[in-house]
Amino acid sequence: MFLLTYSYNNKESAGFLNEDKTGIIPASKVFQGAEDLDMVGVIERFDTMEPEEIKIIINTCKDTIDLNRVKVLSPIPYPKRNVICLGKNYLDHVKEVKSLKTVNSDVPQKPIYFSKIASPAIGHEDLVDSHSNVVKHLDYEVELAVIIGKKCKNVSLEEAESCIFGYSIANDISARDIQTSHAQWHKGKSFDTFCPIGPYIVHKSNIAFPPKLKIQSYVNKELRQKGNTGDMIFDISYIIWDLTTGITLYPGDIILTGTPAGVGAGFNPPKYLKPGDKVDCLIEEIGTLSNTIA
Ligand code: MG
Repeated sequence: MFLLTYSYNNKESAGFLNEDKTGIIPASKVFQGAEDLDMVGVIERFDTMEPEEIKIIINTCKDTIDLNRVKVLSPIPYPKRNVICLGKNYLDHVKEVKSLKTVNSDVPQKPIYFSKIASPAIGHEDLVDSHSNVVKHLDYEVELAVIIGKKCKNVSLEEAESCIFGYSIANDISARDIQTSHAQWHKGKSFDTFCPIGPYIVHKSNIAFPPKLKIQSYVNKELRQKGNTGDMIFDISYIIWDLTTGITLYPGDIILTGTPAGVGAGFNPPKYLKPGDKVDCLIEEIGTLSNTIA
């Protein structure tokens, strides 16, 4: 099941893609009596029905909206809380940042967390503002985004999967020079438009757990990053167990699980982004998130 948030006739709604991914079934046709459900509302209502029951409605609904007639938005354009991110969660990426003198290149013994403002998270084919008046070293990071499905705290490793709603693709756009000069990452990761996520959320029933998916990024069609989400240093179960030990997670919370090697800063000389560049982020079984730098 592929879920999306879209704008149609100046109204934002959540919905499902039909089987051939050409049409949208509004969430209100699946969850009766729920006219104004946004994506977080859909996530909260999801467990009131069986996934198979939802699939039958999606696959038999004839009254769909043509995907070409809507603007696809980020699945959760205004997350209720900052996006939770992991730094240095793939070994090959840890090695490549050794070239950055200001970054500690030790393999982390615990997950490195930071948060990213996404207000809004931008969507597929939206423009990323380069902020070129202040940002000189603009970079990309393809990441698997985990969308939390229910309120959870003190979750065991075994229970972690049950907390997940689904997955999406994110590009953790980063101002390396701001990250460095401020000695921590929050501002350099949080400039307006620096959080593209989308195009869709794929429900977890589509993807075997733990996800072992090819993950790649391209800049102007040149392959830059190539990895597999099975190669995380701290896997998704560990992250959810660790985070929920003391922090309650809620439906619609978003976790970015780190990026594999091949970021612009990892090249010698670095290959930073400039206005006009197009970044494509691909994850197997989920799709492609494309954004152009403005
Ligand atoms: Mg990142």
